[in-house]
Amino acid sequence: MQIDKNKIILITLLFLSISGFSQVREPLNNPAEWSQKTEPFRIAGNLYYVGTYDLASYLIATDKGNILINTGLASSLPIIKENIKTLGFNYKSIKIILLTQAHFDHTGAIAAVKKETKAKVYVDKNDADVLESGGKSDYAFGASGMTFEPVIPDFLLKDKDKIKLGKTTITMLHHPGHTKGSCSFILNTSDKDKNYRVLIANMPSIIVDKKFREVSSYKNIQEDYAKTFASMKRLDFDLWLASHASQFDLHKKRKPGDPYNPKVFMDKDLFFENLQSLENSFLYKIKTDSNKPSKND
Ligand SMILES: [Zn+2]
Repeated sequence: MQIDKNKIILITLLFLSISGFSQVREPLNNPAEWSQKTEPFRIAGNLYYVGTYDLASYLIATDKGNILINTGLASSLPIIKENIKTLGFNYKSIKIILLTQAHFDHTGAIAAVKKETKAKVYVDKNDADVLESGGKSDYAFGASGMTFEPVIPDFLLKDKDKIKLGKTTITMLHHPGHTKGSCSFILNTSDKDKNYRVLIANMPSIIVDKKFREVSSYKNIQEDYAKTFASMKRLDFDLWLASHASQFDLHKKRKPGDPYNPKVFMDKDLFFENLQSLENSFLYKIKTDSNKPSKND
């Protein structure tokens, strides 16, 4: 039998494009805390922490199944699964997956969770593109190619859209800048003593070194950050959390073995202080950007 070389090349190319996996290159040398285990715990009402030491993942348990917010790196999955089990919940009961931003340290395991649980992925519509390209179309990390396994979202969300499951309603707040579709979530939860309005914030940190006006693949990045700072300053809530544990001082507020105590997450002052310091860097960047002549000018 004669072997047709062209056919082999064609089949190989087809296989590579279908398999996809081989093309994913998660950035290396990440902080050790991202991959470290930590004790999962009940935050408030039906809201639980199931992430790694620094990459926050949240589980919201309802009578109609569970919601998972953020998945950490691809390698975070076994930690998240074990945490969900430790808390007495069923990993397979995840019905909805949400994310605060389409960067590999929060989306790494989304494709796997979606495949294994058949959960629906809801994403801020402005991050859908980055999610579908596995990070390739991201303005900041896109040059590194695919940094996570691509995911086709089931539902696209816009500012103030509500996500409902069982008795839980989550409102998505569009907070772009860090990514085009970065977002925060607000939800109400309660225990036998109290009701709590919880903010899960995507803090608007700046990751580009170049001047805003040189970020050609994200033309309105500066305006987006400005709008996000303005809207986050107006937020009202009882307790707050964020995409990274370090952003809300989780490990200072709670030690392993500590009993259930939502009050430790009630420091609004820290939220507004941290937001202010991020805004100061934003304002400083704008000032220095416009004062210095650009290399391309
Ligand atoms: Zn990020």
